[in-house]
Amino acid sequence: MTTVAFIGLGNMGGPMAANLAKAGFTVRAFDLSAQALETAQSQGCDVAATATEAATDADFIISMLPAGKHVRGLYVDGDAPLFDVIKPSALVIDCSTIDADTARQVAAAGAEKGIGFMDAPVSGGVGGAQAGTLTFIVGGSEEQFAQAQPVLQAMGKNIFHAGNHGAGQVAKVCNNMLLSILMAGTCEAINMGVKNGLDPAVLSEIMKQSSGGNWALNVYNPYPGVMENAPASKGYQGGFQVDLMIKDLGLAMDVSQQSASPVPMGSAARSLFTLHKAGGNGKLDFSSLLKLYQDKSE
Ligand code: NAD
Repeated sequence: MTTVAFIGLGNMGGPMAANLAKAGFTVRAFDLSAQALETAQSQGCDVAATATEAATDADFIISMLPAGKHVRGLYVDGDAPLFDVIKPSALVIDCSTIDADTARQVAAAGAEKGIGFMDAPVSGGVGGAQAGTLTFIVGGSEEQFAQAQPVLQAMGKNIFHAGNHGAGQVAKVCNNMLLSILMAGTCEAINMGVKNGLDPAVLSEIMKQSSGGNWALNVYNPYPGVMENAPASKGYQGGFQVDLMIKDLGLAMDVSQQSASPVPMGSAARSLFTLHKAGGNGKLDFSSLLKLYQDKSE
């Protein structure tokens, strides 16, 4: 039986671990949150008391953590670095969205101990994590990419090999920068239509079937009530937090600066999301950016 250690059972990691258990893997789950552990247990995972307990002797170690410092701390320079206990034949698959430099450094630290580490950030949101239809964007060697297939296929639909270590993270921030621009544009257009008397559902359908169609309109409409299962219809709870989108846009700005790539639209989107966070909305789903556009005097 293949054992997978899963560290980080939040909005994304929780349902991903549940899908691995459903597919027949033995999943040893760990999170700092007791509530997340309880949910994982109810979904067929074994619960570990520490990350070390989860990772020891596991065949795969998957992490789904907020940022680069958490990933580095978990594997390399925390109190109990997992690279001290992971067996050499195991493969570490970090699905968190982090900076490419940290991904490369952690991969190098693993390689020194004979442990494979690849970056495999995801796209598809909480809905994709629950449905097992995530897109994985992998940075690592051909061998690691092949080794990871059975576990990635249990959680996702499209699995891309972007290139060597760090390439998955670069591709991921290109995608999320574009997503932030599409979401801001979608909020802007729907708000203008509604202010001019249009029904948001009718306008959304028109744009979806026309040249303005995009992912936000297709599966993540930002206007409450238009799409039953979208975070907008659940008080912007769950989903992908504004804080995480701002993190990703910061990573995109770093890549832009390091490579002298102009990103005027990405910079504008970053300013909009930061302004929205300053209004106290950091923990809401990122589609709540609509509120920034809405006329509060009405
Ligand atoms: P989240 O905040 O819901 O979950 C993070 C989890 O990690 C929490 O449960 C937290 O307790 C746990 N954690 C933090 N440090 C830990 C540690 N040292 N050991 C064990 N557990 C620890 O975040 P999320 O929305 O699940 O996002 C996770 C990652 O996925 C982020 O890097 C994010 O950018 C990326 N991502 C999120 C989405 C989305 O739609 N939410 C989509 C794609 C990618």
